[in-house]
Amino acid sequence: MSAPSSVASPLDPAALRERIGELEAIARHLEPGPEGREALRSPVVGHSEEFYARLDEALAYRVTEDKGAGLLEVPIPEEGIGIDRALEVIAEHVDRPGLNPASGGHMAYVPGGGVFASSLGDYLADVGNHYSGVFYATPGAVRLENLLVRWMAELVGYPESALGTLASGGSIANLTGIVAARDAKEVRSREVERSPVYMTRQVHHCVTKAMRLAGLGEAPIRAVPLDDRYRMRADELARLVAVDRKAGLRPWMVVASSGTTDTGAIDPVEEIADVAEAEGLWLHVDAAYGGFFLLTELGRGLIRGLERSDSVVMDPHKGLFLPYGTGALVVKDGELLARSQHYEASYLQDALGSTEEISPADLSPELTRHFRGLRMWMPLVLHGLAPFRAALEEKIQLCRYFYEEVGKIPGMERGPYPELSVALYRYVPRAGDANEFNARLIREVQRDGRVFLSSTTIDGVFWLRLAVLCFRTHRRHVDLALEILREKIGKLEG
Ligand SMILES: *Cc1c(COP(=O)(O)O)cnc(C)c1O
Repeated sequence: MSAPSSVASPLDPAALRERIGELEAIARHLEPGPEGREALRSPVVGHSEEFYARLDEALAYRVTEDKGAGLLEVPIPEEGIGIDRALEVIAEHVDRPGLNPASGGHMAYVPGGGVFASSLGDYLADVGNHYSGVFYATPGAVRLENLLVRWMAELVGYPESALGTLASGGSIANLTGIVAARDAKEVRSREVERSPVYMTRQVHHCVTKAMRLAGLGEAPIRAVPLDDRYRMRADELARLVAVDRKAGLRPWMVVASSGTTDTGAIDPVEEIADVAEAEGLWLHVDAAYGGFFLLTELGRGLIRGLERSDSVVMDPHKGLFLPYGTGALVVKDGELLARSQHYEASYLQDALGSTEEISPADLSPELTRHFRGLRMWMPLVLHGLAPFRAALEEKIQLCRYFYEEVGKIPGMERGPYPELSVALYRYVPRAGDANEFNARLIREVQRDGRVFLSSTTIDGVFWLRLAVLCFRTHRRHVDLALEILREKIGKLEG
């Protein structure tokens, strides 16, 4: 099937036509017909059904010897390897080793699961290859995406002025939000060293990374003290801002978390907003983990005041259970986001004035991008909101249930009562160092693999975490986690 290497003469029309014909014949392999597509699609569907069939019994975490390195023995070939072989390689080297984020037993970090309906959205987005970057190219795709942003803006309680963007995840969404804040507050390079920002030590590391990426690496970062539940103290924020003002500095932004990753703590956004408003600070809320709990009555009682923030990040690939690849930023005064993503005011005026819908390319660093709106829209319209609300409240209740039950294990110490769906706990051994014991305990649990839990260290204390957010996690999984903890503690205590 390899092509002749040269043409007799580029000016020989007959030879040129012949060469083009040869190339086309080979290139056409990229376009299978209906039967060819079926021959590829049906094994893929079979593979995914097998994956689902095994999911319930599959490990949440699997340690393998080669950690997928066998993949390197399948180099990118000159001619295709066939779908069966490709799926074999995926099953062996991608599906098997490491974490299984689709598993209900995944209760570490911040899980989500990955709803099936999203895969259909991705499929159609890829088949149509819709251009979601600019309105005039695919107006429907842009409308769909903006509709999702407006839906999130309403959830947060923002007015109609809000605009936003679907990003690849919370990290890029936070970066885009911080850049908008920087530009709105006119923090120029030469002023960065004198322009402090405020956050707690519990802020997600992507926020401090975003500061660096945004050219703000030299801005003083003030660690606002925490209360006994790891939440930002608004009175301390006010005090730190006053100290900085007195020193002639230029405070400009505070970052609050609506659900920290470590402990699920919810910073008091209302009190923080009082300070931010009085001091003219941009209030950015990282609700990547907790934001979608607003879909539940319970969550709305817990997460208050987001409507008073200037920008908010939420991660549909966490709280909406989408497969990885979707975060979101919403900015209350959307024009500030649009301005920050433009170089020329005249172009902005045009984009805002002459089209019915603003384009994602005008609101983010990306131009050409995956049509990620479809993977979010599909599950929402196919299932409706009711099962999302139920699943989210179930996660909060499961975490509370765990917190009660884990307290019944003799020797177990617990962190603060969980605010959302993350619980902290650790075992205090009869003898020896507790930190060291819990480090061994988590290794035992991970090696077992039936559930996957993680740990964190706060103020020198090694805590174990349980984070319930995968939509597939139900009481059975939490009970299994409790059973495994009892079993491994027994083993380690001898
Ligand atoms: C997960 C998370 C992030 C980072 O989001 P990614 O989607 O992983 O990039 C940021 N902040 C919080 C609070 C998070 O939980």
